[in-house]
Amino acid sequence: MKNIIVGNWKMNPKTKKEAESLAKSVIKGIGSSSKVDVVIAPPHVFLGAISGSKAVSLGAQDAFYEPSGSQTGEVSPLMVKSLGVKYVILGHSSRRARGETDEVIAKKVIEVLKSGLVPIVCIGERERDHDGRFLAAIKDQLMSAFSKVARKDITKVIVTYEPVWAISANKSSHPASPGDANEAALFIRKTLAHNYGIPIAKKVRIIYGGSSNAKNAESFLAEREVAGLLVGSASLNAKEFVEMVKCAR
Ligand code: PEP
Repeated sequence: MKNIIVGNWKMNPKTKKEAESLAKSVIKGIGSSSKVDVVIAPPHVFLGAISGSKAVSLGAQDAFYEPSGSQTGEVSPLMVKSLGVKYVILGHSSRRARGETDEVIAKKVIEVLKSGLVPIVCIGERERDHDGRFLAAIKDQLMSAFSKVARKDITKVIVTYEPVWAISANKSSHPASPGDANEAALFIRKTLAHNYGIPIAKKVRIIYGGSSNAKNAESFLAEREVAGLLVGSASLNAKEFVEMVKCAR
């Protein structure tokens, strides 16, 4: 399975000029290799100013569940597609924390697929307990996100296991151990296998997100079930992000 490295710039950088410069440095550093899929996901407002390259695709950090209409301030998958976007991050924990529900995420997954884009769905527990209750949380988020997806489209969705406690922006965060990330990814795959069968489950790309960087990228990517990384803060440093892509190659 081809690895994918996704840079989630979140609400950064502050200006269009800085965004253009960061994108240029990443694109230059990555060159033309196609051994790994690379995505940069700048804020919506900068998408029009940034073009991807043969080796670097554009992603959006969210998109609404209707193609157009009266939703003030929202942006649809078709709109970002018209700017060259291929992937859309959905269900990020920072959006869930501000009230985005599983139901809304499920609707967005469908609209993104309908528009011919690839949803990258983030799931992950807020806390880890010792009794395995966190697995139930992962399962609920996963099955809800997939609840409206047609069987034929399951393999088009990328799942990110991103435990909230591992995201660098959160207080006292620390990365998951590669083993823990692999175990959670395996649990996700088994849940998919149970619901859609092993052949389909085997084809779904499951990636890890949470405090990954150039130092630990290799250890996550060495895990059998982990087919890539969703990178937050480290993706704002072109040199470090390019290093991580090199690890994935
Ligand atoms: C994220 O928020 O998607 C993320 C992975 O952040 P970080 O890498 O900074 O922990």
